[in-house]
Amino acid sequence: MSCETLEAGVQWCAQFLEKENIKNLEIVFFGGEPVLNHEVIVQAMVGFNRLKKQGMLDSLRYQLVTNGSLLSPGKIKVLKALGLQEMQVTIDGLPHTHNRRRVGGQGTWGKIWESILYTVEENIRIALNCVVDSENCHELKDLIDAAECFSVSSQKLKQNTWILFSLLIPTTYTLQRCETVLFSKEKEILSTIIDAYAYAKQLSWRTATWLLYHYSAREAKYSYIIAPEGDIYKCYGAIGNKRYCIGNIADDLEAVKKKALEFSDMQPWDEACLKCNIFPICRGGCQHISSLLHQGEYGHKLCEKGLWESALKKALALGVLNP
Ligand code: SF4
Repeated sequence: MSCETLEAGVQWCAQFLEKENIKNLEIVFFGGEPVLNHEVIVQAMVGFNRLKKQGMLDSLRYQLVTNGSLLSPGKIKVLKALGLQEMQVTIDGLPHTHNRRRVGGQGTWGKIWESILYTVEENIRIALNCVVDSENCHELKDLIDAAECFSVSSQKLKQNTWILFSLLIPTTYTLQRCETVLFSKEKEILSTIIDAYAYAKQLSWRTATWLLYHYSAREAKYSYIIAPEGDIYKCYGAIGNKRYCIGNIADDLEAVKKKALEFSDMQPWDEACLKCNIFPICRGGCQHISSLLHQGEYGHKLCEKGLWESALKKALALGVLNP
């Protein structure tokens, strides 16, 4: 995103907040890798902080989703001073798995832990996210053990870290890989994830399980995504898919809002869903994943009832859903 688009984006948000009389704003920076554009993040925070100083906002929260490899203590201090409270850092498993998977095959595992350790010292909360598939699911407990070792020298690590294991989400880009490492193995992988959560809890780690808040940005009335060129989307999975672009920050606000509501209201559930014991945790299935099976089209039900039932039953039995 350029500085010009960013400034126009801040103005777009200001206009939106004023018109809807919204006083609470949460900004999430994500990419690709957002820290590649550190200057624009800083400029964005300065811009949004200005709105708060002008009295437009009662509360303003920032979250950064990063792979952690480009952070430095200096950058973290600047982001903290500007109000960063939370980060999500992704790690792909144990060092050999993580380093093999990352672009360029560079060894970033150690660098990422270094970033995590100085970030928690600034009291910035971290969701340590490992995206799980059948290749790395057997490494989760060892990954927790590694975190446990780091916590010996950093008291703030356990205090400020939430462990998050999320199932690999297929995208057009990863679809081929998903055929070997995910599809038809989801039940087994989820079961391993829940065991790992239980293990993390035994060691007094905080966990953030998405089984509790199956929330869809697409359906949330006031959730918007501004892409680098100023295009606006409602669903993370639709970014770059012009068919589901709901406008641009240069467009009339009312027109964007109208399209946003149409997109949010696209309901894939049916009569069977309304009688289902998983509803409304599941509301007809993830529409992004479903679209991959329907030539990019949203609005088709994707039922994974067996998967949800077994995962929720096991999670409840092991107390994994308890805060
Ligand atoms: S699990 Fe299946 S039936 Fe139940 S709400 Fe989801 S899609 Fe509908």
